[in-house]
Amino acid sequence: GQCAAVCPTGAITIKRDSHDVWEAIHNPKKRVVVQIAPAVRVAIGEAYGYEPGENTIGKLVASLRKLGIDAIFDTSVGADLTIMEESEELLEALEEEDRKYPLFTSCCPGWIRFVETQYPHLMKYVSTSKSPMEMFGAVVKEYYRKQDKKEGKETVSVAIMPCTAKKFEASREEFKRKGAPDVDYVLTSEEVITMLQEIGIRFDRLEPEAYDMPFSIFSGAGVIFGATGGVTEAAVRRVVEDKSPKALKEIEFIGARGMDGVKICELPFGERQIRIGIVSGLGNADNLLQKIESGEEHFDFVEVMACPGGCVAGAGQPFARSTEKRMRAEGLYKNDKAMQIKRSEENPLVETLYNDLLKNREHELLHVHYAPET
Ligand code: SF4
Repeated sequence: GQCAAVCPTGAITIKRDSHDVWEAIHNPKKRVVVQIAPAVRVAIGEAYGYEPGENTIGKLVASLRKLGIDAIFDTSVGADLTIMEESEELLEALEEEDRKYPLFTSCCPGWIRFVETQYPHLMKYVSTSKSPMEMFGAVVKEYYRKQDKKEGKETVSVAIMPCTAKKFEASREEFKRKGAPDVDYVLTSEEVITMLQEIGIRFDRLEPEAYDMPFSIFSGAGVIFGATGGVTEAAVRRVVEDKSPKALKEIEFIGARGMDGVKICELPFGERQIRIGIVSGLGNADNLLQKIESGEEHFDFVEVMACPGGCVAGAGQPFARSTEKRMRAEGLYKNDKAMQIKRSEENPLVETLYNDLLKNREHELLHVHYAPET
């Protein structure tokens, strides 16, 4: 049955979704499609004796296939889409003169909840781009719609996340289209570990396997989303005009990396400088907002992650002290290094999606407008 626990980051009741996912797996009329968040790959292996930061995504994919999942994809594809949309918003914000507030990132539901309840007047400065999970959830539901009809099936969209707040995000009314959520169930890394244990899958003994087609191409920019500063670095890679390898290397050193709870980066942009604030932990976010409100600080872009260190340290991950968090983040940057595609706009799948499935539907599928509190 379903049991409930209480979210450590707020008054959110946590639903355990594994029971429902098991049922969907065993129902031949259901197509179970999974997306895996970047931060999961560098932490889940710890339950099997791997070092924090070691990328065990291939083993996780192999395990999920054994579990009976029909298609396995990477949330980093959604992150590439998020960067495409959010950078457009950033470029527009940079054009506005005398703008007091920055464009705030929108991918962390813990942060969204915090603004809604503590600073509701700032909601209009939060990016309308959906989180990578929700963007990819919408793509998955649209992609299988026709095929489901033909085969008499129903697609069940599952997200494996480092995060308990993602369950709350998935269940929000704003993310339902035609009455159904784009992400039906969210499993945390810990829940997946338990599910694998339940049927005795030996994660460590499996040969690594690859993702399914067609959503198996993503950029390094999408992967680094899982660490604090990653969204910023991905967005900067997109907005700077110089696309040379040298420029890419320079972006590495703007100060977006590392586990500090507050980071400030400045970089030249055309005739001017852009100022970016990166915070993780809601206490740090609160302090920064107060400084912005008082006029003591000014930023063009602010990235906020509710968990100190970012998603690598999410409440759904195996327990982490600061060393593990740092090693996991380093694991994501190492993963990025090893990838051929570094920038979201260079991902050929992104272009295909914009020309096809997303065409004239970007607003519906990729953006969200949070309803005001009633
Ligand atoms: Fe979830 Fe934490 Fe990541 Fe926010 S920072 S999306 S709460 S894991």
